[in-house]
Amino acid sequence: MSVIELARLPRIVAGPDARARLAELAGGGARVLLVADPGLKASGRIDEIEAVMRKGGARVAVFTELQSDPTIEQADAAAALAREHGADTVVALGGGSALDLGKTVAAVAPASASAGIYQLCEAPFPAKPLRKICVPTTAGTGSETTRTAILTRADHAKVWLWGDEIKADVVVLDPELTRTLPPHLTAATGIDALVHAVEAATNRNANSASDLYAFEAIRLVSRHLLRAIEAPDDLEARGGMLWAAAYGGVAIDNSGTAIAHALGHALGSLKPIHHGRAVGVAMLASLPWNVEDNEKFARCAEAMGAKATGIGFIDAFEKILRASGVKISLREEFAGVTPEALAVQTERPENDAMLSSNRRAASRADLIGIAERMLAP
Ligand SMILES: [Zn+2]
Repeated sequence: MSVIELARLPRIVAGPDARARLAELAGGGARVLLVADPGLKASGRIDEIEAVMRKGGARVAVFTELQSDPTIEQADAAAALAREHGADTVVALGGGSALDLGKTVAAVAPASASAGIYQLCEAPFPAKPLRKICVPTTAGTGSETTRTAILTRADHAKVWLWGDEIKADVVVLDPELTRTLPPHLTAATGIDALVHAVEAATNRNANSASDLYAFEAIRLVSRHLLRAIEAPDDLEARGGMLWAAAYGGVAIDNSGTAIAHALGHALGSLKPIHHGRAVGVAMLASLPWNVEDNEKFARCAEAMGAKATGIGFIDAFEKILRASGVKISLREEFAGVTPEALAVQTERPENDAMLSSNRRAASRADLIGIAERMLAP
């Protein structure tokens, strides 16, 4: 028996209108920096959350100068605002980008150095991070329960920051906040949650503790994803998907991802594509090669209510991916990208941790074969 560890879990408050407890969770008199996705402005959501916290006695400054794939420069600007405001708490509201940025700001703001110095664990974070409350408005990335943030450098390279200082203290899962998410984003983010759980359960690092969260996330996605796409106002389905994403986050926080994320990141660095679609397409293409001699895929199939075999999982995964409406063909957007180019990109150092945690080792020829299936019409 080997030694395993389940990392700290944030306190999680979930249910319709859970956001009404934000002021109490931040603490009376808290000085809050609200880091929010600017896409939420039009719906009035940012004003609403700000008002909830002010009513509870918090002093709030708002930062919305971020984009999807947030940059180190934006993190530095937000950290400067946090210091100026004297913030003791960061509330991050939005999808993975806003959560990653908010988590980073809380970790780096106590010192004045750029967030860039902490990339790839090159320097330790300041000793006392600000409190972090993550309020996801999508159900997929799992950033709310991981101690990782992905930022983009000035040279466009994507780099990770990692550490317990980056992990949320409190997570608020309010299904009302995902209700207006359009079907194609509900689908792509939900597939991301599923791929997180499957990769965490089937890779080299999987253990009995992270499996608990991975398999429950798979069950929840199977039960709720298609319903959340077809009936966006179904709060039970929305709530189920928020738990699926949070549990998927716990699974990858402890065991990481695998080959579909290596391929998906490589694909995304060649041309823009939604991360959830990229990893969904990559998983579908890699499965015929990857299920061989890995009995954990049979357990994933079982969790989806399918026949408990590797083939059973391939069928179940393809079925949910197609039914979700995620576009599988890459032909239009990736015309001109060769399987060799995708394979070489996948082998780059920034994808190595994901690739090498895959239980079956992939040779260059294996990667080209999988890339051919991904890029095939
Ligand atoms: Zn992912």
